[in-house]
Amino acid sequence: MYLPDFDYYAAASVEEASNLLGSLGPEAKIIAGGTDVLPMMKQGTLAPKVLISITRLNELKSITYAKEKGIVIGALATHNEVMLSPVLQGKYMSVCETAHHMANNQIRNIGTIGGNIANAVPSADFLPILIALGAKITLQNSGGSRSLPLETFFMGPRQSVIKQDEILTEIIIPENGFSGSTYHKFGLRRSGALAVVGVAVAVAMEDNLCKDVRIALGAVAPTPLRVTEAEELLKGKEITDALLEEAGRLAAAGCSPISDVRGSQEYRRDMVKVFTRRTLRKAIDNGHV
Ligand SMILES: Cc1cc2nc3c(=O)[nH]c(=O)nc-3n(C[C@H](O)[C@H](O)[C@H](O)COP(=O)(O)OP(=O)(O)OC[C@H]3O[C@@H](n4cnc5c(N)ncnc54)[C@H](O)[C@@H]3O)c2cc1C
Repeated sequence: MYLPDFDYYAAASVEEASNLLGSLGPEAKIIAGGTDVLPMMKQGTLAPKVLISITRLNELKSITYAKEKGIVIGALATHNEVMLSPVLQGKYMSVCETAHHMANNQIRNIGTIGGNIANAVPSADFLPILIALGAKITLQNSGGSRSLPLETFFMGPRQSVIKQDEILTEIIIPENGFSGSTYHKFGLRRSGALAVVGVAVAVAMEDNLCKDVRIALGAVAPTPLRVTEAEELLKGKEITDALLEEAGRLAAAGCSPISDVRGSQEYRRDMVKVFTRRTLRKAIDNGHV
């Protein structure tokens, strides 16, 4: 499998990358780590005439915290940088653990969190946990920038609201008062496998009272999704096993999985029910934030 011919630009700024995308049109594509783009080009499922690399944009690599804004993760932070970030380890270990369970060490060294999001694949691992934590993203072009909740970014498999000339520059996890969060990836192997089902939970508990909860699912619908009926069931209630069981049932009813080689529709629904209950319990019990 060889790469087809293409032209290559290494952008020196977000503005330059955006201008190139705008002037060259849909034949041009951004490349960050290239762990999605290059295999697709080799397989012939993607054939851009121009690749615009953004890997020199060091301003998109940092992971910082400010009280008024929350945690700001640059789109070019690699999975290993996310995993090892002291800022994230101190506030949201669940995000570091998500990175830890992705791919293999080589891919984690070059694959970026921005690429994981911009790719808009329903099974991508960062999406459920970031949605559960209420993350926002910033999209920038030469005209300015806009911020939107991550959960509104996706339109379908590999489809999003990003415009042709926009670059995803940062992911922001605002201060949200959650006492625990966790992501459970269920794959067919322990490592290097895509999620068959992904469940993420962020919860704000006061003793045994659920003050707030967000539940996000991956790999069981055309886009990652929140299961708000299950969330509403739990909010304001004392948590019991029966309530968690019912939340699992509502989550399973709220998703729309496909059948493929990795699992049937029915199997995925059953796994959503089981793992929603277990992931809720884990987030509630261990105060993972
Ligand atoms: C062996 C292997 C194992 C993998 N395992 C996993 C796994 O366990 N879990 C998982 O979720 N994924 C996995 N992946 C997929 C991939 O590694 C991730 O999705 C990765 O995060 C993609 O990031 P990247 O920087 O390599 O993206 P790229 O390949 O560079 O780009 C991906 C897409 O996003 C666009 N893009 C990238 N950055 C930006 C930006 N800042 N602004 C706008 N558009 C942008 C590109 O144009 C392209 O369309 C795996 C891939 C491989 C090859």
